[in-house]
Amino acid sequence: DLQPLRRALLSVSDKTGLIDLARALSARGVELLSTGGTAAAIRAAGLAVKDVSDVTGFPEMMDGRVKTLHPMVHGGLLALRDNAEHVAAMEQHGIAPIDLLVVNLYPFEATVARNADYDEVIENIDIGGPAMIRAAAKNHAFVNVVVDVADYDALLAELEGNAGQTSLGFRQRLAQTAYARTAAYDTAVSTWMAKAIGEAAPRRRSFAGEIAQTLRYGENPHQTAAFYLDGSNRPGVATAKQLQGKELSYNNINDTDAAFELVAEFDPATGPAVAIIKHANPCGVARGATLAEAYTKAYDCDRTSAFGGIVALNQPLDAATAEEIAKIFTEVVIAPGASDEARAIFAAKKNLRLLVTDALPDPTAPQLAYRQVAGGMLVQDKDVGHVDVADLKVVTKAAPTDAQLADLLFAWKVAKHVKSNAIVYVKDQATVGIGAGQMSRVDSARIAARKAEDMAEALGLPESPAKGAVVASDAFFPFADGLLSAAGAGAVAVVQPGGSMRDAEVIAAADEAGLAMVLTGMRHFRH
Ligand code: 5GP
Repeated sequence: DLQPLRRALLSVSDKTGLIDLARALSARGVELLSTGGTAAAIRAAGLAVKDVSDVTGFPEMMDGRVKTLHPMVHGGLLALRDNAEHVAAMEQHGIAPIDLLVVNLYPFEATVARNADYDEVIENIDIGGPAMIRAAAKNHAFVNVVVDVADYDALLAELEGNAGQTSLGFRQRLAQTAYARTAAYDTAVSTWMAKAIGEAAPRRRSFAGEIAQTLRYGENPHQTAAFYLDGSNRPGVATAKQLQGKELSYNNINDTDAAFELVAEFDPATGPAVAIIKHANPCGVARGATLAEAYTKAYDCDRTSAFGGIVALNQPLDAATAEEIAKIFTEVVIAPGASDEARAIFAAKKNLRLLVTDALPDPTAPQLAYRQVAGGMLVQDKDVGHVDVADLKVVTKAAPTDAQLADLLFAWKVAKHVKSNAIVYVKDQATVGIGAGQMSRVDSARIAARKAEDMAEALGLPESPAKGAVVASDAFFPFADGLLSAAGAGAVAVVQPGGSMRDAEVIAAADEAGLAMVLTGMRHFRH
């Protein structure tokens, strides 16, 4: 399935590598055809090139909106070389075949990124380029299509390896890349338009993913996987810089995202915070006077689970914190920056992956969240719900103290990031027992209480840290039993959404147990 390459059409906005490519093709005796700016650049380098306008018999017109949209071009790209009728049509109309198309499109995404005005963005929607790319890709049985400067070398290597011809497999891969490019391009246009005309969520949306990394495997070794960027350039794991360590795995990326999004709930202006994540659930979250103290408090919550965990910081990694983290095996650390001393400390830990960003993820930024189901997809707004002290409604005879209120808000923020059913015990701005992902709230409450007992044992504390702690529940207690289980473990104050049919019963039980309870009026299911 080798096909010769005799004639090429080059039309590129980004002229990087153009001259080297044109020269190499010329040297192979390939005839070059080009649009205005591209032809001028090739000619200036002293190479022979024919103008597309001479081939079409039409000048480029309407500010370049119409350059290559012509049967002399599209016929040359689309004609099947082994089809008698197609060949006869080419002969009849004097259409010469085009065996290679090299196009990179008007820089639409870059124009949007520099906040150009509406009309300028519109002018940067390439029309002829995608039309040619799609035509050439369709006819990959004969035609090569290159849409990325990064593929120039591969093309030349293919020609070199096949005496100036290309294989079908090679052309198929080029065609697949080409359609990914035009799909992403149109999605970028649609996404920009949604924003420009004030549509909160695009009416129809495809994911404008640029592949960032082909992963070794997915959640399990028998699953293939890849990591895509959505083009938003938001701070987070997708745009973080990896300073050291092995390549990130699928699970690393997922857990690192969970960790960083959780810790970003704690405004760095109000002090350091640290979250440690295992399997997308936190196993320790704390604030402290220093970052190192916050880390130690988070680690102490569940030392067993923290082993091999993912650590996220809300402030740049400093030396003292790096020293503490380096004491145990940690998979990934992510922070908005890292000091030189901290980096030097980690340098000895070859396997530890360190990621830094310029900023924290924005916990209030609206975003769509997707989940695939058989035969369809669920789309919803990301949970950016948030409550302040003023939103809390005290429903019990006892009211929480100021310190308890601060802990209740802390516990509530953490509970939002724990898989449902979530029960979170907090004392002194640190989690001391987390129950995650159980099918009944009572089970999550029991697990959280048992985790607190484990913590007491691991640290040699005289009693369970759940004693005197506050507790958060991500959704209402449907019965008093979950609440009573928390009271039994020693909790003194509770935060939960409220809204159960049996709220009165649950409130009465809280009063009987002497608990202070506040309702948020908002729940944080996370499944
Ligand atoms: P040049 O710099 O060669 O003048 O223009 C190259 C750019 O023009 C490429 O990005 C290519 O995709 C685009 N292009 C080629 N043909 C057409 C056309 O007919 N209409 C529009 N709008 N763009 C075209």
